[in-house]
Amino acid sequence: MNPDRRVALVTGSGRGIGRAIALEMANLGHRVAVNYRSSSSAAESLVAEIESLGGSAVAFKADVSSAPEVERLFSETEAAMGPVDILVNNAGITRDGLIMRMKDPDWEDVIRTNLLSVFLTTRQAVRNMARSRWGRIVNISSVIGIIGNAGQANYAAAKAGVIGLTKSTAKEFGSRGITVNAVAPGFIETDMTAVLDEKVRSQMVQQIPVGRPGRPEDVAAVVRFLVSEEASYVTGQVIAVDGGMTMA
Ligand code: NAD
Repeated sequence: MNPDRRVALVTGSGRGIGRAIALEMANLGHRVAVNYRSSSSAAESLVAEIESLGGSAVAFKADVSSAPEVERLFSETEAAMGPVDILVNNAGITRDGLIMRMKDPDWEDVIRTNLLSVFLTTRQAVRNMARSRWGRIVNISSVIGIIGNAGQANYAAAKAGVIGLTKSTAKEFGSRGITVNAVAPGFIETDMTAVLDEKVRSQMVQQIPVGRPGRPEDVAAVVRFLVSEEASYVTGQVIAVDGGMTMA
């Protein structure tokens, strides 16, 4: 197989960090499966952009928190492009609220979308990766999964769960040529963080040694390394991309 031309599935890649990762995968020469949940327009325009740059991409609709939809996503991707070699679990949501006021659906939706989805896609992806003895899985966690955050118990629990799942998968599949790592972004400017008011935003930036919020491309650059051949000895790691906001 030409190592420069793998099939890379990026979940929730119509916008934000996922979009930047999908573009980076295309820049590397990989064929990109662009996954979106509801509106196809952003995903279709990303596919058009990748094609205009000489790359290859197909958009697939699927809610990654649903097991049957994930199964369908993988069978459609395989039929159209071949088996998935690179899986980037990026889809995520927030439903913030203090614990005493948090409604059950806010807890469940975040756990299903941000954690269950990673298990469902991983279970599908490792079948082929183990067979071909090559695979890359990158899970987008968050620094909140490491340090916690008042008002984000559901999100922090899901993102911490992603880290445990990442390490367990890395141990199960390390001998099969599959690496599994997590990236923990800090404060990245996307639609997800655009809802924060200016005061919260400037308080957060004050805590960032680099002195600016992150860009989706900052996260994509680290994913680029983790999916490369050169990263074959890096697995089970959590790499913060946060301008130094949190340090171990
Ligand atoms: P975003 O809201 O711009 O993008 C999230 C994408 O996921 C959207 O395209 C959305 O449609 C998709 N999605 C949501 N639920 C889905 C589902 N069930 N099935 C398929 N797609 C679904 O957010 P973003 O900032 O680009 O975040 C991307 C990832 O990075 C998320 O996992 C998020 O938790 C994580 N993250 C973001 C930040 C930040 O500061 N922006 C920080 C840490 C971690």
